[in-house]
Amino acid sequence: MTNRRRVVVVGAGITGLTAAFTLATQRPDIDVVVVEASERVGGKILTTPFAGRPVDCGADAFLARVPEALDLCRELGLDTILTSPSQKSAYVWVNGGLNRLPAGLVLGVPTDLDALATSGIVSSEGIARAAEDLTRTEWIDRANGSDPNGADDQSVGELIRARLGDEVHEKLVSHLLSGVNAGDADHLSLAAGAAQIAVAARKSPSLITALREQTTAAQHHPDAPVFHGIPVGTQTLTDLILARLTQADVPVHLSCPVSSIAPTSGGWTVTTPLGAIAADEIILATPAHPTARLLESIAPETAGDLASVEYASAAMVSLAVSKKSLGIPLDASGFLVAQTDPLPTLTACSWASAKWAHLDDPEVAILRISAGKHGDTHALDLDDSSLVEALGIDLDTTMGITAPPIESRVTRWIDGLPQYRPGHPARIAAWRAGVSDEAPGIHLAGAAYDGLGLPACIRQGRQAASSIA
Ligand SMILES: Cc1cc2nc3c(=O)[nH]c(=O)nc-3n(C[C@H](O)[C@H](O)[C@H](O)COP(=O)(O)OP(=O)(O)OC[C@H]3O[C@@H](n4cnc5c(N)ncnc54)[C@H](O)[C@@H]3O)c2cc1C
Repeated sequence: MTNRRRVVVVGAGITGLTAAFTLATQRPDIDVVVVEASERVGGKILTTPFAGRPVDCGADAFLARVPEALDLCRELGLDTILTSPSQKSAYVWVNGGLNRLPAGLVLGVPTDLDALATSGIVSSEGIARAAEDLTRTEWIDRANGSDPNGADDQSVGELIRARLGDEVHEKLVSHLLSGVNAGDADHLSLAAGAAQIAVAARKSPSLITALREQTTAAQHHPDAPVFHGIPVGTQTLTDLILARLTQADVPVHLSCPVSSIAPTSGGWTVTTPLGAIAADEIILATPAHPTARLLESIAPETAGDLASVEYASAAMVSLAVSKKSLGIPLDASGFLVAQTDPLPTLTACSWASAKWAHLDDPEVAILRISAGKHGDTHALDLDDSSLVEALGIDLDTTMGITAPPIESRVTRWIDGLPQYRPGHPARIAAWRAGVSDEAPGIHLAGAAYDGLGLPACIRQGRQAASSIA
């Protein structure tokens, strides 16, 4: 008989893997078992060879100004090879053309109105409307400075439209913030989807003034990179964690979907195709809908809420095109599409071979194109070749590319991106409290909750591990 406690981690995306790795390295008193439904680890992180290079099918960068991902890379010995984008600026498709985004944007919010005027993106009326923000002395929206805990949450659109006007919102802010989760900034929680803006909005009735103060205070290293990338592919991160788990004799069962969880005396039974696994505690690092199914019989109220979390599906299409066929120079990291000027299919285009030195090639340009967003699945409904053809029309319109691609690859992320609605932080707190009440020893972590970027998922994996008794 052994008295060792066992933790089962369900889901081997970056969140579950980080939780398992943290337990394996920091808790020698605990046995860890990882169970994953698909035949590989990594979840939304996937890199496959494309045009002779390791091109990511999902995440290709992580925020450098928060420590979690960088710290994990350091622990795995990956920090020495990290790179940052060669191109710092980007374009927006707006007013019928590609316009370079002005300097001074903070998550799309302009803090330099002279640069905004020079960019030609926003009309003089739009700039005058935004300038009203600079002299405002009274709060005109719900972020009135009285509630530091975020119960005053509203949508990003509500705040930006009120403070800076509709035009700035629709031509600059909306696509930058909603692009992250293929959503709609008019329905995106300010507190959960743009925390930096939420903090500034609470600080001052003038959003521009508060953001200027914030950036001045944060500029210890003005040249520090905003993003890091892994030149051998983001999947190296999850592959290395798997290797470290294997070294530590942590079983990682692939093609092993958990079908149910049931209470036993003092713990839980996790049912898998391999049979039942006894667990003292469980970390559910799965998206909201599978999590809801697993909690249905043990925490029904929370399960019902989780089942109603909305997700967007998106396709990531990689194209290799001859550089000779480009109608414009690739002198930025790519372009976004303004809410005012939607294209039939394309929602964003990363000029991957210009953005990353490791993807550059003298003859061939690599583009990573996003299509599909919440509430609009027409791109996802097309078969691969029709989707590539439809994107070809948008590339002709925006970049003057008429030649067909040399190579293409379509990756579909069905229900890949959670939508954080206003009030999201309060709902998460309620779900976590509900689960800890109805199903003690079960922990929720991952992209559905406290942030969907890699650093936020890694942080949640660490937190789930440290909450194990
Ligand atoms: C196209 C795209 C581009 C992105 N780009 C970036 C970017 O550049 N930078 C960035 O920081 N973030 C980016 N993200 C976001 C980020 O990649 C994800 O939010 C993050 O990887 C999610 O990790 P996770 O572990 O929480 O969930 P997931 O990766 O979804 O992992 C959950 C795992 O649970 C498994 N599972 C589900 N049900 C069961 C079950 N019943 N039993 C066992 N296992 C189960 C799934 O198979 C999956 O492997 C992007 C996301 C997408 C879709």
